[in-house]
Amino acid sequence: MPKIHQLSATLSNQISAGEVVERPASVVKELVENAIDAKSTQIDINVKEAGIALVQVIDNGIGIAAEDVPTAFLRHATSKILTVKDLFNVTSLGFRGEALASIAAVADVTLETATESGLGTVAQVKGGELLSQHTAAVRQGTQISVRDLFYNTPARLKYVKSQQTELGKIVDIVNRLALAHPEIAFTLRHDDKLVLKTAGHDDLQQTIAGIYGVATAKNMLDFQGEDLDFKVSGYFSLPDTTRASRNYLTLMINGRYIKNYQLAKAVLAGYGSKLMVGRYPIAVIAIEMAPLLVDVNVHPTKQEVRLSKEGQLADLLTTTIKARLSKENLIPEALHNL
Ligand code: ADP
Ligand code: MG
Repeated sequence: MPKIHQLSATLSNQISAGEVVERPASVVKELVENAIDAKSTQIDINVKEAGIALVQVIDNGIGIAAEDVPTAFLRHATSKILTVKDLFNVTSLGFRGEALASIAAVADVTLETATESGLGTVAQVKGGELLSQHTAAVRQGTQISVRDLFYNTPARLKYVKSQQTELGKIVDIVNRLALAHPEIAFTLRHDDKLVLKTAGHDDLQQTIAGIYGVATAKNMLDFQGEDLDFKVSGYFSLPDTTRASRNYLTLMINGRYIKNYQLAKAVLAGYGSKLMVGRYPIAVIAIEMAPLLVDVNVHPTKQEVRLSKEGQLADLLTTTIKARLSKENLIPEALHNL
């Protein structure tokens, strides 16, 4: 008998789930990104027990046709890319086709979905098995409920931290996704209590106010800059409005929230010596570039990306912020108070 065999789909999905679904906040991120890709204008998120008991995401997007439902839960199954060429031109948040397969491998998932034309579908997938699928009257859009996360992977469940820590991570990721999409109205509820709500009026400053408070939003400057390859825009706080943590910097590339140490450093450099030691600004920065200049296929969660002209972009951020701050300093205090 041969010693080498291919793993079953269930087992390989469980293995890849370890990369994509680290904790409840990863489920929230993946489901909300799918809702964004589905062109939703309203996304409602409900979590119970910091996401272990329930993560539910309800959107009003394009929905999934009945015939596509079983495929959506297969690994490497996606509607977002088709060819290698598409991979270098990704404009959607998802493209790896791993999230639904991974989540369904380690939880109990109920899907209710309907497209504009077809009747709706209700399906249940648990531990990677499609348990049922039937037609039902469902409003257009998609509702995914993920229950009992990590019920069959006790090692992973043990790794999950306190409810407070996990809820903090969920709030953080929803904040970032909402900041990246001011045109979408978001709500987040934990154990039925409203935690976060954005208006979805496509007004970034208003979205910032909803997340960081009106006073903070008022102490921020809008800015924009561009060179041949990049466009940067957004809001950053005046040097007297800071926080003790770096976590209030949100960087987005083509609508995707990303983490990048060099670019974060470049933002700080724009302030020069204006920041007190150990204090960090609040900033929400949208960067637009040709998809060819950014490789998003570096990490399963796609939060780290590879940029081909990172130094140039960093310089643009620093000089744009520096110029905006010095312009602000030229305006006399008295005028400000008008
Ligand atoms: P990916 O997002 O990388 O394509 P996923 O596993 O997250 O992979 O989703 C698989 C497919 O299921 C998507 O390509 C999309 O066609 C469909 N899908 C998932 N969530 C939604 C949603 N909320 N609305 C519409 N379609 C969805
Ligand atoms: Mg996805």
